[in-house]
Amino acid sequence: MRVASVGLGAMGIHMARNLHRAGLLTAVWNRTPQKAQQLAAELQVAAPATLAELASQVEAVVSCVSADADVLEVVHGVAAGLKSGALMLDCSTIGAETARQAAQLLEPRGVQFLDCPVSGGVEGARDGTLAIMVGGEPAAFARAQPVLAALGRTITHFGPSGSGQAAKATNQIMCAGIIESVAEAMAFAHAQGLPLDKLIDTLGKGAGSSWYFVNRAPNMMRGAYPAGFRVRLHLKDLRICHEMAARFGVELPVVERMLKEYAELIARGHGDEDISATYRLKEELFERTNIMRAPPPLPA
Ligand code: NAP
Repeated sequence: MRVASVGLGAMGIHMARNLHRAGLLTAVWNRTPQKAQQLAAELQVAAPATLAELASQVEAVVSCVSADADVLEVVHGVAAGLKSGALMLDCSTIGAETARQAAQLLEPRGVQFLDCPVSGGVEGARDGTLAIMVGGEPAAFARAQPVLAALGRTITHFGPSGSGQAAKATNQIMCAGIIESVAEAMAFAHAQGLPLDKLIDTLGKGAGSSWYFVNRAPNMMRGAYPAGFRVRLHLKDLRICHEMAARFGVELPVVERMLKEYAELIARGHGDEDISATYRLKEELFERTNIMRAPPPLPA
């Protein structure tokens, strides 16, 4: 199967490399063309100028772009070139409704669309160990196996179009609660004067641990938040969760709180940092009180 990769951002670039390692990648495309040209030269694959040209050369397109409107733009772009019988696998995190819309747009052309959002961070994308949540026709899921196997380790078909995105939205709610509690706990530990490296080593093996604690608490300790999962992208995901819950007349407290905190971080210019930057807000809680940092009383 000849496969093309669209969207070479923090996640997509690793996915493209893994497709290449599996011997599947024949072409790449990125909105900012320099990134595609650079990777194409390195991997010795094609970098066509347009999405239609790219799509005409392959049996499957894997996309990983930012948000709903971006996926629909890419779908329109590849639709002009994809042959009947081709597959489109979209790994972006978008609304379930948008995934269904993408599937409907491609269906008349004989192209099957699978929503394939992923979890596992940039590290999971790099190592090919992502969890992939798939929605779409079972036959398309079966045909996509070699492509999915190149990208991830836990690959689950949840049902018709949109159900992969519904599973991913569930995951994003958990991520919101966990990153918030990790940031609060780290700010608390810092204020207690604890050695944070030892703390991460020890609690990382305890019952309160999580992927975010083990992999992102070190960012908080160093005060550096290089783009892993950008704040603005998680905000986008939580808006999706907000809308999906609102259809049931429900507001989820964790989602609502993190929407506010991320909006604050973005307003302060931290939207492109990793979501562990939430720590910035939590450490301020302790800076305001200063109680724990007061010098010890002088001996009598
Ligand atoms: P990113 O680093 O910001 O990259 C976004 C990519 O999408 C770039 O290649 C960008 O092109 C492209 N793009 C954006 N709008 C586009 C448009 N209208 N048309 C064509 N291309 C467009 O984002 P990322 O971290 O790789 O995330 C990508 C997706 O994966 C998002 O939906 C995100 O929620 C999801 N995700 C991310 C993580 C994570 O840890 N980062 C984990 C799981 C899922 P340019 O180079 O031109 O900007």
